[in-house]
Formats: sequence, C-alpha cells, structure tokens
Amino acid sequence: MSNYLVPYTSSGCTAMCMYCYLVCHFNKCAYLRLFVNREEMLSRIIKFQEKSDDELVFEIGSNSDLVLENTITNNLVWTIEEFSKTKKGFLTFPTKFHMIDDILDLKGKERIIIRMSLNPDIIINNVEIGTSKLDDRIRGVIKLKEAGYRVGILIAPIILLEDYKEIYEQLFMKIKEEIPEKYLDEIFFELIFMTYSFVHNAINEEAFPNHIKIYEKEKFTSRGKGKYTYKKEIREEGTIFFKEMMNKYFPKSKLFYIS
Ligand code: SF4
Repeated sequence: MSNYLVPYTSSGCTAMCMYCYLVCHFNKCAYLRLFVNREEMLSRIIKFQEKSDDELVFEIGSNSDLVLENTITNNLVWTIEEFSKTKKGFLTFPTKFHMIDDILDLKGKERIIIRMSLNPDIIINNVEIGTSKLDDRIRGVIKLKEAGYRVGILIAPIILLEDYKEIYEQLFMKIKEEIPEKYLDEIFFELIFMTYSFVHNAINEEAFPNHIKIYEKEKFTSRGKGKYTYKKEIREEGTIFFKEMMNKYFPKSKLFYIS
C-alpha cells in the first residue's frame, strides 16, 4: 500500500519475534540501532514528495518498530510534527506496540497511516516475544481512531498452527466485539502469511528450544535462498478461510490483500 519503502530513524528492535527478518541480520542479539540524521532523511522524503504531482505514501517502518523506538528517542513525535508542515503525501508504518499516547494530540495526523499488527494471544505470547499484549494493541487501535489517525489492521504474520481456524476466528470475534463498528468500517485490513527461513530456524532452535514450533517442514516449500513459504495448497485453503472470516466479521472494511 506504499509507493516507496525508505530507510528511517532506526534499524533492529529490542523485541524478538521469531519470524522477524531483522533477527536474521542481528543473529541472536535483539537490539535497536538508532540513526542520528533524521532531519536529512525526512527532508529527502519531503523534497521527493514536493516534486511529484501525486500524493505518495512512504513506508518508514520497515526496518524497526517506530512506536517502540519513540519511547527512547521521541522521533515519531518529531516526525509527525515536522511532516505536518508540508501539505502533501502520507507516511505509514506498522507496529506491534501500544505506547502511542505521546502521538495522540499532534497536528498533521490525518496524513499518517498507522497499521497495528494483531495476532491471537497464543502467537503473541509465544512467538512475538517482547511485544505488546493483544488487549493493549486493540486499545491502541481505538485510541488512534479516536484521535483521528488513519488506521489499518495487519493480521500478520498468519501462522498456520494446527488449530489456526479456531484461534484466528476467536481473534476476529474479539476485534469485532471490542472495536466500535464506526471505526471498524473505516479501518482497512492486510493479511499476510508467514514466511520463514533456514537462518530463522537455526537461531530459534538454539535460542528458544522450548517455544512452540512455527516451522513444520511438511507445510512449507522453498522460495529460494534458504527461504520458506507455506505450500500452495495450504495457502489456498488458508486464503479461502480468511476471506470467509473477513466477509463474516468485517464486510464493510476494505481488505487490501491476503498474500
Ligand atoms: S516488533 Fe517488529 S521489528 Fe521488532 S522483532 Fe517483532 S517483527 Fe521485528
């Protein structure tokens, strides 16, 4: 949903999601690396947007979690305030964290698109180690909508555990029960199946020997260079299921894609 994916103020993360591609960069150490040239990076985005006749969407959160980073640097507050001085374009980023109170009252939020990542409790507690709990993330979505942000929900990554249909239907029911309908109708969804890799598996087997297994060899196929994706027939069955869930629980919400 973005036009450009750009480097921004940090790389890495202090959380330890077992599937995160950043974990592979940093091996077994989960740490956050901060960059100090924020003025330069944001001004490049703004200048690029100014040269374009179109309203562009810039993904600024692909190398870290900017909500988490903001608790240390205040960079997200600065970014939203600075970007509000221009009158064109959008910034977007995903998050698995709920600490958004500092950004609720800022100017310019209508040009910020925040995508909150949600997953069933069992996955958050066992796989997304060090991130915010599901209840907190849902409260975060409501607060962001109340404040006037554009908000999306990422159901991502979808992990096809044995009982995935049951646990994901419970998640859909919980979202429907807890987020007011007027907000849900405006929220868009992106659904993304997990990809995994040989390196992830090697790190996780050693670092988290007692955690639930998210890599079951028979369910995956190679995508080249040591990367794995769910087999075609498994993805197809999952896609049918998740489309049914969207139609049943959120028929008015926009579904950008299931991929
Ligand atoms: S919160 Fe995001 S950036 Fe941090 S480890 Fe998890 S997936 Fe990676």
